[in-house]
Amino acid sequence: MRKKVIAGNWKMNLTPKESEKFLKELVPVLKEVKSDVILCVPFVDLDIAKSITTGTNIKIGAQNCHFEKAGAFTGEISAKMLNSMNVDYVILGHSERRAYFAETDEMINKKVKAAVKQNLKVILCVGETLDQRESNITNDVIKNQVYKALQGIEKSDLKNIVIAYEPVWAIGTGKTATSDLAEEVCGYIRNLIKNLYNVEISDDIIILYGGSMNAKNAEDLLSQENIDGGLIGGASLKVADFSEIVNIADKV
Ligand code: PEP
Repeated sequence: MRKKVIAGNWKMNLTPKESEKFLKELVPVLKEVKSDVILCVPFVDLDIAKSITTGTNIKIGAQNCHFEKAGAFTGEISAKMLNSMNVDYVILGHSERRAYFAETDEMINKKVKAAVKQNLKVILCVGETLDQRESNITNDVIKNQVYKALQGIEKSDLKNIVIAYEPVWAIGTGKTATSDLAEEVCGYIRNLIKNLYNVEISDDIIILYGGSMNAKNAEDLLSQENIDGGLIGGASLKVADFSEIVNIADKV
């Protein structure tokens, strides 16, 4: 039985002061939950977020990292730096980074390698655009993204990788994928992992759905066989909304 995982992606929101207030409210609310909870926060919030959540059931993640350990990469943060702050997770390949920062599958693959080498767990995002869906090439796009991101990644590293299926047309748009559609692609991703590795790994890997998930649609999505949790953007910015989704994950 795979555990349910609810991960928040704050994107470029909440200052350290605001995140302190948020987390001090959230920690007691989630004290008894069984699902795994992760919050991926801006780099500047990592320190305060780690200090408030250490010893609780909330894990902290970053939203990106560079693939080199150090060097002349102005404005970048390495996986090694995240490891030095005891960060637990890092989101890689988010569609906003692919679209606005020109991240390629090759770069994402290098980042995945750097992150696992630094003992970070990776939330690897994949997903098709509306154009790609309407051109009936969703499966090809997903296959290409998954295969390229995982090229050269050892079997033993797969326990540190979570895959998030995030259709680009559903992110921040209020348009959620139907549970049937999300289940179909998440099942397809599980099958890709079976083909790339083996059935034990594909049975164990955590696959999340992301794209306008909220307290209203969470139960339907989270009760699908191949959807093990959610990557939540907008709805992770309010304690009440986020904790309601975690409570739903606990019950399905
Ligand atoms: C995301 O940023 O990964 C996301 C799923 O955002 P939203 O929930 O706001 O669509």
